Amino acid sequence: MFWDQASETLSRPLLERAQLAQLQETVRRVALSVPFYQQKFASLGLKPEDIQSLADVRRLPFTANDDLRAHYPTGLLAVPLEEPVRLHTSSGTTGKPKALLFTRKDIDQAAELVARSLVMTGVTRQDVFQNMMSYGLFTGGLMMHYGAEKVGCLVIPSGPGTSERQLMLMQDFRTTVAHILPSYALYFAGFLEQRGIDPRRDLAWRKAFVGAEPYTEETRQKIQQALGIQVFNSYGLTEMNGPGVAFECEHQCGMHLWEDHFLLEIIDPKTGEPVPEGQQGELVLTTLKREAMPILRYRTRDITRLLPGPCPCGRSHRRLDRITGRSDDMLIVRGVNIFPQQIERVLMAHPQIGRNYVIILEGLDDLTVEVELAAAGFDGDVEHVAALQHHLAEKLKAELWVRPKVNLVPAGSLPIAEGKAKRVIDKRSL
Ligand SMILES: [Zn+2]
Repeated sequence: MFWDQASETLSRPLLERAQLAQLQETVRRVALSVPFYQQKFASLGLKPEDIQSLADVRRLPFTANDDLRAHYPTGLLAVPLEEPVRLHTSSGTTGKPKALLFTRKDIDQAAELVARSLVMTGVTRQDVFQNMMSYGLFTGGLMMHYGAEKVGCLVIPSGPGTSERQLMLMQDFRTTVAHILPSYALYFAGFLEQRGIDPRRDLAWRKAFVGAEPYTEETRQKIQQALGIQVFNSYGLTEMNGPGVAFECEHQCGMHLWEDHFLLEIIDPKTGEPVPEGQQGELVLTTLKREAMPILRYRTRDITRLLPGPCPCGRSHRRLDRITGRSDDMLIVRGVNIFPQQIERVLMAHPQIGRNYVIILEGLDDLTVEVELAAAGFDGDVEHVAALQHHLAEKLKAELWVRPKVNLVPAGSLPIAEGKAKRVIDKRSL
């Protein structure tokens, strides 16, 4: 099912021709109206007419997280202040937020992309869409709301309300689709179970869009199982409109990134150079159609890769793999880029391994992974421990291309962090 079949299936040559025209237009506009980019272009000796091909995007300056903060609140605006109709800010971190302004056309375009994304998963105007994300400055609630309305769903803006109220609305209005945080989806499954409600039998719920928090494939499977629904991965960020940047289609095999609106690059976060096609790196996005705040080469800090080959759905927009980490977390060990999440995935796939681990770097690039054994299910026999250590080291070497030393330690022996766990201890003398 398509919302905008012509755009979604546009041939690559036509898509790329349109991208180049939009990129050139965007560069011209910021060169005329945004002092931040004017200064950057001047220092690079760059003129808008230097952008002659899509590969020339690499001549443009990056825009970093800190650039958005430094130009808070309206320093990156490319239109007069009376043009924008909506403000959103980024969530999270301390200090001043990142402020993003949108014109009416920007909002409409963002809603279009959400509409495409929803229809791509099989949503129709018959659906009842319960939006459990918070509304307000955060883009997750409102942008999804506008897109679902555009499709013609009945939208219930329940927000992150109590589970009793979510359930009441869900039952009374026969909700079929929900937008929900992964952690809350799991909690809600438990809540239903306590009430003796079998979602397969008692609810009309059949799909969920899950995002805003990183989660693993195992968590997706768990949510699907527990609630008897299909769960679709989505990718979005406030700097690029919020939800609807990239979304899974009905085949659930990677997220189509809407390339007629965003020009994508995957770079090595340390060097800024493109990685070979299909390799992991940092996603960098340039807005192609945004009016109020065009952004060139935004460093998302999200690590992903492009999936090879066409998707059976027939869409020409390329697919991103699930986000596997943040570039801030990247380690370089013996010249190889390693993400702690890669190590975690290998460890957590093993039932005899507990959840607590620490990655230690010392000397000249010696990598040690210290990990707790599961509380139950292991006899502690010295030979068994050695065999398991060897097995894990081999598994990690296959994933990382670097062979770590693995130390198994008893359950409960590693320190427990309050809040975000400190997983990496770097004692290298570099
Ligand atoms: Zn597809």
